[in-house]
Amino acid sequence: MSDKHRVVVIGSGFGGLFATKALRRADVQVTLIDRTSHHLFQPLLYQVATGILSEGEIAPPTRDILRRQKNARVLLGTVETIDLEARTVTHTVVDRTTVTPYDSLVVAAGAGQSYFGNDHFAEFAPGMKSIDDALELRGRIFGAYEMAELEDDPLKLDAWLTFVVVGAGPTGVEMAGQIAELSRRTLKGNFRTFDPSTTRVVLLDAADKVLGTFGDDLAEHAKHELEGMGVEVQLGAMVVDVDRYGIVVKDRDGSTRRLESRTKIWAAGVAASPLGEQLAAQSGAELDRSGRVLVQRDLSLPGHPEVYVIGDMMGLDRLPGVSPVAIQGAKHVAKQIRAEAAGRTERKDFQYFDKGSMATISRFRAVASIGRIHLRGFIAWVAWLALHLLYLTAFKNRFTALMHWAVSFIGRGRAERTATYQQVFARTELMKAQRGSVEDRPSIGATSQPLENLSLDSGSQGPPR
Ligand SMILES: Cc1cc2nc3c(=O)[nH]c(=O)nc-3n(C[C@H](O)[C@H](O)[C@H](O)COP(=O)(O)OP(=O)(O)OC[C@H]3O[C@@H](n4cnc5c(N)ncnc54)[C@H](O)[C@@H]3O)c2cc1C
Repeated sequence: MSDKHRVVVIGSGFGGLFATKALRRADVQVTLIDRTSHHLFQPLLYQVATGILSEGEIAPPTRDILRRQKNARVLLGTVETIDLEARTVTHTVVDRTTVTPYDSLVVAAGAGQSYFGNDHFAEFAPGMKSIDDALELRGRIFGAYEMAELEDDPLKLDAWLTFVVVGAGPTGVEMAGQIAELSRRTLKGNFRTFDPSTTRVVLLDAADKVLGTFGDDLAEHAKHELEGMGVEVQLGAMVVDVDRYGIVVKDRDGSTRRLESRTKIWAAGVAASPLGEQLAAQSGAELDRSGRVLVQRDLSLPGHPEVYVIGDMMGLDRLPGVSPVAIQGAKHVAKQIRAEAAGRTERKDFQYFDKGSMATISRFRAVASIGRIHLRGFIAWVAWLALHLLYLTAFKNRFTALMHWAVSFIGRGRAERTATYQQVFARTELMKAQRGSVEDRPSIGATSQPLENLSLDSGSQGPPR
């Protein structure tokens, strides 16, 4: 190894990848470690889940993106330990453990789904944070229609054709809009025993607005549009229980009710990477309610100017967990590391420039809030399209995504409807295996169970109710 300034970057998401790229011309040696081998464009996960895009289009290989950056290497593995005293990062992959020393450390391990203390909901209401999640959801969504085709009990049929999306932020709105569109356009004529356009899509939130951060006018517009597409928007509705067959909701007046639904999707909360807890325990830094590390104004860890925390793991001025915060933070810390490697020690405060937010509601309809400018409808959708094309990594992905959008938005097809048994059932089977309750089950992938013996919303076996 060279004696250059050693930078370790944890995470190849927006924060980690952009920090690494911004160090391209610096006289440093960068080691980027991630538990996946790809850079994931999370804002388009919902399109993988609903069959519009393939996973490869939104998750190109990190080492291919960085192939020309000679001062960077990419290592696969899950970071288990950060030792602030020894200045090392330990990561494992399969049975191999690697310890990497650093002079500067950038921690950008992002956030996971939060069930607000009800982690058992995850078995029946998967979230959407990774390619695994999106492919599992794809299998569950299209699988629910397959189950509906087999069903002759009208009540059970209704449950298969009821999709509940929890959380009316951008992800929930996009997901609900796409399921409505799928049922009304794409699946037309695909089934013989029921009409997919009778699908019930429910979008729930405990708050009293959809897209609460977009301003009242856009929130109202989005709700109106969703309802026009047949989505039932239920606000002031807090989820109090989730099981295989449905979801229990508490309304504002304190009453509870149950919705029978075999497919629930959780788009409600986030919790920062548990690596934040390690940093806090060793440095005395504080964590906010979502587990984000409260950093100094230069984005460093209190007492550790050589360690930076950025993106969804970073707590500063209540900045939101969105990609521009991660990208701008990445560029800021790269600049400081570059200066440090060149022997300068000046530190600057991070200044965030809010470029606004946007969310699609359906094809050709979106909302965008850019400072005081509020766009809606087709013009907002064109802005969404242009921005997402710009930020999708790699020209090939931009080109194929554009083709798939043409297929889905101008036509009514969806090119990516394939899902495998393993994608649908592996996560829940693994959860059960970890709980030690599955000694006698067939191993994942070895199962040859007929579809009707597997529950699409629990992964467990047994007769459908
Ligand atoms: C469904 C969805 C939709 C979104 N839509 C938008 C949107 O429309 N606009 C917007 O601006 N933002 C959106 N966001 C938020 C945006 O994606 C995040 O703010 C951004 O990805 C944060 O970047 P990050 O680098 O902090 O984390 P991430 O991009 O999440 O990257 C974290 C990386 O760390 C890796 N990692 C985690 N733990 C470990 C470990 N222990 N060891 C090794 N590697 C690890 C992960 O594999 C991942 O690659 C969306 C997020 C989601 C989930």
